Amino acid sequence: MFYNLRMDTRLDLRPADGYKSPAQIARVLTESWVAANAYCPACANRLDKLRDNTPVGDFACRKCREEYELKSKKNGFSRKIVDGAWEEMDKKVSGGLSPNFFLLNYDLRRMSVHNFFVLPKHFLLPGLIEKRKPLPPTARRAGWTGCNIILQDIPRAGRIYYIKDGRTEPRDQVLKNWKKTLFLRDQPPTERKGWTLSVMSCVDRLGKSDFSLDEVYAFEETLAGKFPGNRHIKDKIRQQLQILRDKGYLEFKGAGRYRLAR
Ligand SMILES: [Zn+2]
Repeated sequence: MFYNLRMDTRLDLRPADGYKSPAQIARVLTESWVAANAYCPACANRLDKLRDNTPVGDFACRKCREEYELKSKKNGFSRKIVDGAWEEMDKKVSGGLSPNFFLLNYDLRRMSVHNFFVLPKHFLLPGLIEKRKPLPPTARRAGWTGCNIILQDIPRAGRIYYIKDGRTEPRDQVLKNWKKTLFLRDQPPTERKGWTLSVMSCVDRLGKSDFSLDEVYAFEETLAGKFPGNRHIKDKIRQQLQILRDKGYLEFKGAGRYRLAR
């Protein structure tokens, strides 16, 4: 499928219509780009734009009703993504009710989309939602508390790219990547899932598709710091690798060797 990377600047955005700030203009441009170009990563169908200020999501799939909330940002996403009200998000994530997130980076000078990926909701855990400081008493919404999604703690498989550094990924690959980690949806957002995601992140950090058990054991201390109170870290690592094998994310090669499934 051909992607038009240019955002539509023909949209008539006049200050009189309330589009005053560059952020508001960017929001309108990126939303219309997603509406025209994105497809559902679960079933490849078209997406419908939901009305403004709907409680969950900005887009929904016409067929499977999967929901997506769009976050766009100039340049790249760094460690964290700024999100809305903390209490609401914490509740949604704990209940597995968060939407999926579409994350889009644009280059305003060239009016183009540089990166566009989906972060599936089954990668979110309460521990990945960081509470921000409440707004000070002098603020209009004094006491309101927002949150950040800690993107850097999410395994790489939780970023399913449609466009990466300006290059379009084939649709078949996007759909395949979505399916690859769908097993996470069967796990409730508890510490057990935290283990699965953490071991996936450790494997990411090895930076190769073939690796050994000993190489994952090297993260024992890191994981002990993340899960204090658990004294059987190596057992947990083996258990999680087995789960990832059973779900088709990894292959066992024998003699303590593993390979990431393609
Ligand atoms: Zn769908």
